[in-house]
Amino acid sequence: MKKIIVAIDGFSSCGKSTMAKELARETGYIYVDTGAMYRAVSLFCIRHGWIKDDFIDTDKIEQHLSEMHLEFKTNTEGKAEIYLNGENVEQDIRTLEVANGASKVSTIRTVRKELVRQQQLMGQSKGIVMDGRDIGTVVFPNAELKIFLTASPEIRAQRRMEEMKNKGQEVDYEDVLANVLERDERDQNRKESPLKQAEDAILIDNSEMALTEQQELLRNLFREKTAF
Ligand code: C5P
Repeated sequence: MKKIIVAIDGFSSCGKSTMAKELARETGYIYVDTGAMYRAVSLFCIRHGWIKDDFIDTDKIEQHLSEMHLEFKTNTEGKAEIYLNGENVEQDIRTLEVANGASKVSTIRTVRKELVRQQQLMGQSKGIVMDGRDIGTVVFPNAELKIFLTASPEIRAQRRMEEMKNKGQEVDYEDVLANVLERDERDQNRKESPLKQAEDAILIDNSEMALTEQQELLRNLFREKTAF
């Protein structure tokens, strides 16, 4: 069977990673969570005080970008986890503060350029499912299968809140919704690679869709694209 690139883009918290991970598991493809890369950069910057509340020191971030070494390693359960300079930061990057910082660092051109370069290298041999905001438009404009996933902001906030609660984080629905809306606004309106649907991407609104229905749809699209 021929190997392809699957690009899954869309708004924050609409289930891109669940969808992408499951397809990668079923097909034996490599899964890459590009959001984790922007989050790891954000974490590094927060720890150094280059991002704090509304303040962001773009010059410092650009100067020190080459010191942020990112890597994905597979854990004993077969799940990919992100490492920042050798430290497993998979848990530390999943907070609202880091998410917000990620949507700020992702507006910096040099940061995007470097992370896109690394992502393109990961997809060189195809056989990859990558999720993010600009995968079908910038990272892999020639990806064979492109999905643009969306759901209403309220449903996305609800899902994200439940996910965080399950991980033991106490969060307020209104705070999560505000975070989702703020990131949507920044992702769609930034100058560098704003979030938008690629012309040849398939739009899926999963607000009212069961997970099994969504995966079935994706599985069928994948089969169509990989059949000779
Ligand atoms: O997908 P996730 O919510 O983990 O992404 C965190 C932030 O990283 C997003 O809000 C977005 O601003 C940024 N991002 C991006 N381009 C990507 C992936 C994520 O700008 N390909």
